Amino acid sequence: MKYWYPQEIWYENEVELHHLGREILNKMALLQIPLKPIAAHNKARLEINDPQKRFIASKRVLILGTKKDLKLIPCLPSADYRIVIGTSCPAFCEYCYLSDSLGERVFPRVYVNLDEILNPVLSLLKKERKKTVSFELSSSGDPLATEHLTGLLGKTIAILGQEPNTQLRVVTKYDHVEPLLLLAHNQKTFFRFSLNTEYVITNFEHGTSSLKERISAAEKLAQSGYPLGVIIAPIILYKNWENDYFDLVKYLADKLPFLQELELITFRFSKRSKSKILTRFPNSKLPFPQSGIRHKAFGKYVYDEDSMNRIQTFFSAIIAKYFPHSKIAYFI
Ligand code: SF4
Repeated sequence: MKYWYPQEIWYENEVELHHLGREILNKMALLQIPLKPIAAHNKARLEINDPQKRFIASKRVLILGTKKDLKLIPCLPSADYRIVIGTSCPAFCEYCYLSDSLGERVFPRVYVNLDEILNPVLSLLKKERKKTVSFELSSSGDPLATEHLTGLLGKTIAILGQEPNTQLRVVTKYDHVEPLLLLAHNQKTFFRFSLNTEYVITNFEHGTSSLKERISAAEKLAQSGYPLGVIIAPIILYKNWENDYFDLVKYLADKLPFLQELELITFRFSKRSKSKILTRFPNSKLPFPQSGIRHKAFGKYVYDEDSMNRIQTFFSAIIAKYFPHSKIAYFI
């Protein structure tokens, strides 16, 4: 897939105080991408009234900021804590897991104060010397999407690669892994590719790498010694779902038989995310069933118990058959 380049860079003044910030700004200037100073990354707005046009235009801007809240926050079920080096990404997945939390602030953002962000992480690792502590890097965006512009992910991998008692967990729908292949990761970074059937990727994950590109990127990372897993998400019940997901798992077994873990996440939505999706993608083919779903807390809907049991039984059987040595990390 082609690299993404923003049409504009917006940056907080503080960015210039950081070496990495100056480095990225210089690179953007060389690429002749217009630069615009802003007061605060989380207050940025585009003066466009039409919500669909505003959404599309927001994804053409890259914001450089600094992360102010540096507290470590738990990140279950995927890791002990999260590390936030960026927010959102340039892609247009209809069911983006961030649509509830980001609201209108969907701009891809990266934070250049990496040393400050990693300070509490390194202190905790020092304190917990005898325990492995895991950190999720993708809880607020896709860190590979802008890596060719910032180098932030590579720096994080190299720094945590020196820590004996950690696991850094990364999820991506992109395939631009080349800058990561020669890093001293020391197998401390556990990469997971977020995958789905061809039907789901083509219809709902606009602007991301194709299934084949993601698998080929996973093969390259495996050759470079990175431990690997996949996330199959969101699992959607549609007409041919069983055949298509069966083909996907079989294809994975052929290409990536060494996968250590599979994480399984079923389709879920809230009233708020459904309304956002239908505003941003008025012709969406996403099935929002009226029946066969159950209400969870905070306006969230998931498949009902019968459907969940059916999905779990189906995946447990094919994963046991094709990945007898891998584990299902969780099913939700
Ligand atoms: S790749 Fe991830 S962060 Fe980006 S739009 Fe899709 S779901 Fe959201």
